[in-house]
Amino acid sequence: MKSDFKEKVYTIDRTYSRRVNPETLQVNLGNRCNQQCAHCHVDASPSGAKIMSKEVMGDIVIFLSKKKDLILDVTGGCPELNPNFKYFIEKAKPHAKEIKVRSNLTVLLEPGMEGMAQFYKDQGVHLVCSMPCYTRENVDKQRGEGVFDKSIKALRILNELGYGKEENLVLDLVYNPGGAVLPGEQSGLERDYKKVLKEKYQVTFSYLLTITNAPIKRFEQYLKANGNFDKYMKLLMDNFNENVAGNIMCRKLLSVGWDGTLYDCDFNQALNLSLKDKSDKTIKVSDISPDELQEREIIFENHCYCCTAGAGSSCEGALKK
Ligand code: SF4
Ligand code: SF4
Repeated sequence: MKSDFKEKVYTIDRTYSRRVNPETLQVNLGNRCNQQCAHCHVDASPSGAKIMSKEVMGDIVIFLSKKKDLILDVTGGCPELNPNFKYFIEKAKPHAKEIKVRSNLTVLLEPGMEGMAQFYKDQGVHLVCSMPCYTRENVDKQRGEGVFDKSIKALRILNELGYGKEENLVLDLVYNPGGAVLPGEQSGLERDYKKVLKEKYQVTFSYLLTITNAPIKRFEQYLKANGNFDKYMKLLMDNFNENVAGNIMCRKLLSVGWDGTLYDCDFNQALNLSLKDKSDKTIKVSDISPDELQEREIIFENHCYCCTAGAGSSCEGALKK
């Protein structure tokens, strides 16, 4: 299949392939996770051995301190399983405009994580939690046996602390489709989630974010194993939406890998498409300041179609609200 995402974007507006002023620094603390989901685009698992060191965390804090108005978006794997997770959040807090943590919820029930929910609250962390459906059947199919019940238990712990209830304790949920289809309309799905989770499980949350599955890594293998890869790519391409192409998240976001390497986004990170300097050397977070990253060309490949299909997709949910 022809790789023409860049050409397609160029036909609309050539500036869409360039970064504007960065607003978010997304940091991947490593690929260790207590789960092993069928659609994981970073191939995370309990045996994940890529764990960000304290030294790299220090480089990130210096980077943040040079701009002060960046949102720090912490992800993984399972970020809480990095042994220096709390250290990093505490050090970064004075330098970030806001701190978001992407949590899989079930980790809150793991041994040693008893005080984590309270820690989030004390640090004023904005939580973004995976919950790909409001039915047990669909969640367990995608994320593993028993994950739904554990997620509900974790959500109740967070609700008890005020998350998803009080204005300053934001608890967002993330939906991604169970197969080779585009997500449903975000606000309609949010209404359904809120109704079912409240009525059946007495759980509340702030906003639902819909994310389109990226055709890479474990999801790519899953599509290929089912003979659906070409069909899914065609679906993404056929639904290219030029009205959202200028809002793709990489224009305002930077992604840092576990070893400090910089990328345009988490998907490019998963594919090892790092930012390079003029001599083709990989750029690390310690090599550069935020302002030097403006106007740089973004690396586009075919997987980018997942960001522009239908209502668009990003780590903040649909691009067209
Ligand atoms: S999708 Fe999230 S919860 Fe699932 S294995 Fe990957 S990092 Fe872990
Ligand atoms: S996959 Fe990454 S680089 Fe490609 S359009 Fe999406 S956010 Fe941008």
